[in-house]
Amino acid sequence: MAKQSRALVLFSGGQDSATCLAWALDRYDYVETVGFDYGQRHKIELTARDQVRNALVEKFPEWAVHLGPDHMLDARVLGALGETALTHDAEIRMGEDGLPTTFVPGRNLLFLVLAGALGYRRGIDVLVGGMCETDYSGYPDCRDSTMAAMEAALGAGMARPTEVKTPLMFLTKAQTWALAHDLGGMMLVDLIREDSHTCYNGVRDGLHDWGYGCGTCPACELRANGYREWTAND
Ligand code: ZN
Repeated sequence: MAKQSRALVLFSGGQDSATCLAWALDRYDYVETVGFDYGQRHKIELTARDQVRNALVEKFPEWAVHLGPDHMLDARVLGALGETALTHDAEIRMGEDGLPTTFVPGRNLLFLVLAGALGYRRGIDVLVGGMCETDYSGYPDCRDSTMAAMEAALGAGMARPTEVKTPLMFLTKAQTWALAHDLGGMMLVDLIREDSHTCYNGVRDGLHDWGYGCGTCPACELRANGYREWTAND
């Protein structure tokens, strides 16, 4: 019997990681998810995780058989390290260092180390994340070169090969919607629209064509513009 392929998806409950979860369920024999509590301003981001997982199980039985348990890890030390707009009520804008105030230094680096350690314990050597340098070029911890360096560091530090897969790395937000459609048709697109959560302001009243959210924060703008670009071209 061929060795079972196993992946661990870094899963926040947003559009990108929901698409990554579907991508992984479509490719790997067995998939677990991991989320991180880093003192997010809005708990809605964490409840969206359960909603997306439950909806995937309900609507895609062919994927449900590949889905294993979810893990939640405490990463609140990130909040203790300093203020950012994601963990405190600071204004979301460009900072003097040229990075948005939503940038949490070291966040994805820490997440990958924690996911790598969890994967080691769970016998999983593939980590899947929604990092993307097309739309988030301001975030140095989302770049492909950073991911390659982390892959090398995890492999060396745990003395076994670890793969870091980032299927969205070079996609625009419109192409991410298109990928969801390729994977699961409009049923998956609608699931991601309605059950995933991206808005930095935690707004969830009123369903727009692209999903729930305030519509004006940078995350909503990216998501909305991407959705409109995808529907306009499709
Ligand atoms: Zn928003």
